Amino acid sequence: MSQISLTFPDGNRRDYAKGVTAAEVAQSIAPSLAKAAISASVDGRHWDLQWPIERDAAIAIHTMKDDAPALELIRHDFAHVMARAVQKLWPEVKVTIGPVVENGWYYDFDRDEPFTPEDLGAIEKEMKAIIAERDPVKTEVWDRSRAIDHYVRKNEPFKVELIEAIPGDEPLRMYWHGHWQDLCRGPHLQNTGQLPADAFKLMSVAGAYWRGDHRNKQLQRIYGVAFRNREDLRAYLTMIEEAAKRDHRKLGREMELFHLQEEAPGMVFWHPNGWTIWRALEDYMRRRLRQAGYKEIRTPQVVDRILWERSGHWEAYRENMFIVEVDEEGAKEKRINALKPMNCPCHVQVYNQGLKSYRDLPLRLAEFGSCHRYESSGSMHGLMRVRGFTQDDAHIFCTEDQIETECADFIGLLSSVYRDLGFTKFDVKLSTRPEVRVGSDEVWDKAEAALENAVRKVTNDYVVDPGEGAFYGPKLDFKLTDAIGREWQCGTFQADFNLPMRLGAEYVGEDGAKHRPVMLHRAILGSFERFIGILIENYAGRMPFWLAPRQIVVASIVSDADPYVAEVVARLTAAGLRAEADTRNEKINYKVREHSVGKVPVILAIGMKEVEEQSVSIRRLGETRTETRPLGDAVAALRAEATPPDLR
Ligand SMILES: [Zn+2]
Ligand SMILES: [Zn+2]
Repeated sequence: MSQISLTFPDGNRRDYAKGVTAAEVAQSIAPSLAKAAISASVDGRHWDLQWPIERDAAIAIHTMKDDAPALELIRHDFAHVMARAVQKLWPEVKVTIGPVVENGWYYDFDRDEPFTPEDLGAIEKEMKAIIAERDPVKTEVWDRSRAIDHYVRKNEPFKVELIEAIPGDEPLRMYWHGHWQDLCRGPHLQNTGQLPADAFKLMSVAGAYWRGDHRNKQLQRIYGVAFRNREDLRAYLTMIEEAAKRDHRKLGREMELFHLQEEAPGMVFWHPNGWTIWRALEDYMRRRLRQAGYKEIRTPQVVDRILWERSGHWEAYRENMFIVEVDEEGAKEKRINALKPMNCPCHVQVYNQGLKSYRDLPLRLAEFGSCHRYESSGSMHGLMRVRGFTQDDAHIFCTEDQIETECADFIGLLSSVYRDLGFTKFDVKLSTRPEVRVGSDEVWDKAEAALENAVRKVTNDYVVDPGEGAFYGPKLDFKLTDAIGREWQCGTFQADFNLPMRLGAEYVGEDGAKHRPVMLHRAILGSFERFIGILIENYAGRMPFWLAPRQIVVASIVSDADPYVAEVVARLTAAGLRAEADTRNEKINYKVREHSVGKVPVILAIGMKEVEEQSVSIRRLGETRTETRPLGDAVAALRAEATPPDLR
């Protein structure tokens, strides 16, 4: 019998008989490992313990301690176990597909009536019984015709259709969880008892069309989530609950910030309150950019296709562009324009006006650029995913030698902005050269090193994603973490050797000859729409005072106080604060409750005592105690509090 040699993660090498299974390898190391093992990696491929290994390879045995393989298997095995439970409870239900998705899995069933919440409870109970049985998981490879015969006999038409759609004549893998069988690529756990019975939950039921096509039959999709242990599940469920409370669409209604409607899908109607947040954020960003040496510009939104052809977007990005056709006088054909999906080509046009010298570099052109991109209706989500958005965009034109300093300065600015806006933690990812790319290796070496050196000045805690850079240059992505632990990719910094070349950007160097500048695309917020959505959810609507759309409500307790209320509002407004009067004939507690829903941070209650003393009673959002202060003091203190962080 021939031998194969397996290399373990610690570098040790051992010989085994050809065709040894990963389970046998685990057993040869230690029986305890064989018991704890859930799967293996063989030459980097996730490997079922039952699969034979036919050639020399690098091997690692996984246990539940290995996060990624454990979660993948848990969620995948749960999909099978759930389908088995459903068919146990309702034998007439037909099975289709059940993939792993983020945090869990789903399975689509053919059943006439939808599953009810009670059904989900019954399925969960049945799943727990299956786990308790500790049924072994078995696998076999079948040829196609045997598999088709099997499913025809079992009256599972969707499985037959799936097999018939697989091209070629490759053998198919079958899996059994106990007696219950499914067509599956694997890998899977050793037995159902390895599943954590207290770490899963069935979340919801939704209609879904077979193969995602609305002309097909509608199926019933059950979603589940699963984790390695009960603590992780609890943490996830708490996060979901917290996220629902913070949903920016719900808060957007309650705080009267914005709305969306059918006639302009994915484009935001900003209301006075929402637009106030926007303006405060935009003013802040404008000051930060000016201090950092950027020059603000404004470029057209409707641009002839000729420029998009030159920039390459017409070819690569056409299906995401909004096309604007115009009948020009005297012309036989319509002129075809596109709404800009990005600002970059327009910024090169500004750069190209007038001869540039090395003394002009680096040139940092910033624009709060309004862009439009067509997104499918299913992918849109409140402010988080829209079709019309405004980037805090800027392009830095510089020499290759300037990339590192520009990058370091950018990271400094970005981290300071994030800190000011309440985000102290963010992750950095460096994506390096892909196989298909423009520019010489020498230029790539230089640019990648520049980005990496710049990152290292700030942190050693970053990840490198080899081969994931754009074809035109390496890039950095910045992901911030919000108050409930969710990550949002916002900032980006990309070197570009391509666009300056395509659009003919040049500068005259010290040597008197013409050179190509490097173009650095960069954004800190990403888009105003999405970032405001993130801010709303991060703060659960309770914005920092300087960003709060309605900062102060001055509420009368008795109508005799109304003239003084007007005076207080006037004083606050003159001090640059956003203040309004509430002199309705309502109880003060009613007013406080209503403005709390609107997330107004400060309410000043005014009764006759305050009128006589020329004072105000200050009540903060979420607090019950009040503090009385002389009017002049209160105005000065609130004014100081409302100062944006960069001006303090
Ligand atoms: Zn499977
Ligand atoms: Zn750009």
